[in-house]
Amino acid sequence: MLNDIKTRTAEAARKAGRNPDDITLIAVSKMQPLDRLDAVLAQGHRVFGENYVQEAAGKWPPRRQGVQLHMIGPLQSNKARAAADLFDAIHSLDRMSLAKKLAALDHIPDLFVQVNTGAEPQKAGIAPHDLAGFLAAIADLGLRPRGLMCIPPTDADPVPHFRMLRELRDANGLRDLSMGMSSDFEAAIAQGATHIRVGSAIFGARPPR
Ligand SMILES: *Cc1c(COP(=O)(O)O)cnc(C)c1O
Repeated sequence: MLNDIKTRTAEAARKAGRNPDDITLIAVSKMQPLDRLDAVLAQGHRVFGENYVQEAAGKWPPRRQGVQLHMIGPLQSNKARAAADLFDAIHSLDRMSLAKKLAALDHIPDLFVQVNTGAEPQKAGIAPHDLAGFLAAIADLGLRPRGLMCIPPTDADPVPHFRMLRELRDANGLRDLSMGMSSDFEAAIAQGATHIRVGSAIFGARPPR
């Protein structure tokens, strides 16, 4: 299934007139059985995503060599240091208190600011109209994120959300776009995604938590 997703990623890139090498496929291994994780590692894939610091700390250290690890789930401020020690990138920078914790560390991973493109009250992320102010405020702390991340509302057409994230990226002079999951990564690539986060389409359905 990994090879199928790689093929579809490259195809979507070509259709959009983009270089497939400009798109990073993050294999989201949260809650997956270890044998599935090891099978994807054995196929040579080296970029993975996790949602929970504790789960990732339990399974990744012995497998970490040569692997690029991305934190894509909500991050509690009291786990900022543990996350910075374990992950190469954090996609869920979504509030000032977390920015302050990260800025105080001597090693800071690559950062993506999560944007709540659907303005959903229960969902994490900076409101689109607050983004410029948030970026200015964290710049004062010395934080320069490489891009933006979004999770579109479950039942909506994701394309307007991907487009909005790209426009916000361009308006704020950032580089990367973390968007697109199993069900919509090709649409995200068409809208400029540089990092797609694909879980179940690679590993199979997740067992319930
Ligand atoms: C779980 C998760 C994914 C992967 O979801 P799939 O539908 O399994 O591809 C991507 N992004 C985030 C933020 C997630 O929590």
